[in-house]
Amino acid sequence: MILENFDNFNSYSKKYLESDFNSVYGCPECGFTGMLHRHGNYLRNLMEINENFNVCINSVGILRVFCPKCGTTHAVIPDFIIPYKQVSFNLIMKIIEMFFLESYSKLQIESSLVTVSRQLVKNIIIAFLLTFNYLFMFFKSNAQLLNFDSMGNVSPKDFVLALNSYLTLGLHFSKDYFNSTNTVFMMSKKPFKSVNDKITQINITKSVLIKYTE
Ligand SMILES: [Zn+2]
Repeated sequence: MILENFDNFNSYSKKYLESDFNSVYGCPECGFTGMLHRHGNYLRNLMEINENFNVCINSVGILRVFCPKCGTTHAVIPDFIIPYKQVSFNLIMKIIEMFFLESYSKLQIESSLVTVSRQLVKNIIIAFLLTFNYLFMFFKSNAQLLNFDSMGNVSPKDFVLALNSYLTLGLHFSKDYFNSTNTVFMMSKKPFKSVNDKITQINITKSVLIKYTE
């Protein structure tokens, strides 16, 4: 899998449709630095939020490339998609901002964002809470830039604010997070466990999960 930066769905679609994509370099599998070759594509559905805050489901074409050196095939995932998630990065951001910053209830989010169910909101909140060890590790290394409390005295709201600051600075969160933590955003390979003994441990206990998700 290769994560690529794109401003938004429209700029990606345009580039995708124009087949202007034969310039993906570098194989994450074998370290080959040359150009990878186009190797077909596939369509996937993505629940997205547009500039008028309407939720819609788009079909997104995903390019596949292969490495001429080792033969490995990679999907090129634009960073408005979170790998393995059916919901776009922007929509997930909108939901966690509404919940943690603007204190909307799950029911209010469901009413405001048509086609987004309360269960989906709940799943997103749980996935977000379970990635705090990775988020903490990532934001700690950018603490000064983001005005983030690297001592570990942080709430879910602080994580959302740090994420917001990161995006406001024009940085590519999904790709940087992936390269830094070796996992994709909103995925917890090791829930409830510290990823590194040297960092301050952020434990999401069952009571915290219940507080935010019941
Ligand atoms: Zn390769």
